[in-house]
Amino acid sequence: MKKSEVIVIGGGLAGLTAAIHLSRAGKSVVLLEKNSYPNHKVCGEYVSNEVRPYLDSLGVSVHDFQLAEIDTLTISTKKGKAISTKLPLGGFGISRFALDHLLYKTAVGAGAEVVFETAVDITFEADTFRITTTTGSKFQAPIALGAYGKRSVLDKKMDRGFSHQKSPWLGVKCHYEYPDFPGNQVALHNFEGGYGGLSKTETGTVNFCYLTTFESFKKQGTIEKFNANSVAKNPHLGEFLNRATPSFEKPLSIAQISFSQKSPVTNHVLMCGDSAGLIHPLCGNGMAMAIHAAKLASEVVLGYLEHTNPDRKLLEDSYTKAWKVHFEHRLWMGRQLQRLLLNDTATALAMNTIANSEKIIQAMIRRTHGKPILV
Ligand SMILES: Cc1cc2nc3c(=O)[nH]c(=O)nc-3n(C[C@H](O)[C@H](O)[C@H](O)COP(=O)(O)OP(=O)(O)OC[C@H]3O[C@@H](n4cnc5c(N)ncnc54)[C@H](O)[C@@H]3O)c2cc1C
Repeated sequence: MKKSEVIVIGGGLAGLTAAIHLSRAGKSVVLLEKNSYPNHKVCGEYVSNEVRPYLDSLGVSVHDFQLAEIDTLTISTKKGKAISTKLPLGGFGISRFALDHLLYKTAVGAGAEVVFETAVDITFEADTFRITTTTGSKFQAPIALGAYGKRSVLDKKMDRGFSHQKSPWLGVKCHYEYPDFPGNQVALHNFEGGYGGLSKTETGTVNFCYLTTFESFKKQGTIEKFNANSVAKNPHLGEFLNRATPSFEKPLSIAQISFSQKSPVTNHVLMCGDSAGLIHPLCGNGMAMAIHAAKLASEVVLGYLEHTNPDRKLLEDSYTKAWKVHFEHRLWMGRQLQRLLLNDTATALAMNTIANSEKIIQAMIRRTHGKPILV
């Protein structure tokens, strides 16, 4: 049985950030991750600048990459009617391949122990978490952070409501050579049954990531056919797919992307990032929220571990309160949006309204994006 002060389950953005924060504060941290680094993940790879001061404070030097600095958002309707607007805070384009790997190296440098195993069971007894992995290894700690992303076997183990429901959404992502794409832009293009985002990464390639419903996808059956017969019907995406050269052997895809409501604390585990709720990528910055949630969790955990008479209820209540203040409303907006996007007629109407009004886009950005994270 390996013992530590904190166990983090999942080494994506939330888990690695928390591991860095807590290790830098002198706590012993074990992080369990099921995959090795670096690897590609299905993600739009546009990171809001709200995380920059915090990442700097943790010594995570994203500036060492040739980042695509993004200050403009372009949106187009299915027919290609487009509108552009300035992003008040802006952001940067970086692949998950590079970002997660950088966070991993920083976490190890800060003293966190990263174990490449998949957690399959978690129990809480006598104020202690016990976690078992697929190989039978056992880990023990007074604090467990659940940072295992959108969906995991642990959700079923903990009987979390959403884990029993199917989700209609699936995501596809691939990098492309396409030198003409402006580095300062993130573009969101609507097509029948979904929408796709384009933005440059630190390598100069363009990330094309789209979200669609299984219903729409199954009519075509393969990604190639879906791209040609549905996605490319938007003239901007059609031109992109015709002229761009894929950098991956084949696109990555994930299914069962759930935007359902979740709880920030389940069975005493503090949930960070997508495990506490995934925001619809069209209206929010899940990556920034995951990093921000890791900061909120790390702060309350430090208060708990350093207290002479620690109070678990206070720990859980403080985290829930802080999490709700920052994310509850944004996630609610995201859930309304994903409902609307399931209806093609309503989506077309909404997209046409949006594409006619920069004011509406600016109001949407204000309501769904965060402010710079204070350090
Ligand atoms: C199609 C799509 C596009 C998106 N585009 C954007 C965008 O452009 N900008 C943005 O800000 N956000 C975007 N997001 C959201 C963003 O990707 C997520 O919010 C973010 O990755 C959340 O980070 P996380 O650390 O919570 O989860 P993840 O990054 O998913 O990390 C979870 C980690 O846990 C590991 N894991 C899972 N189960 C176990 C287990 N049992 N044991 C051990 N390890 C485990 C996984 O291997 C993974 O590494 C997008 C999401 C989707 C679906």
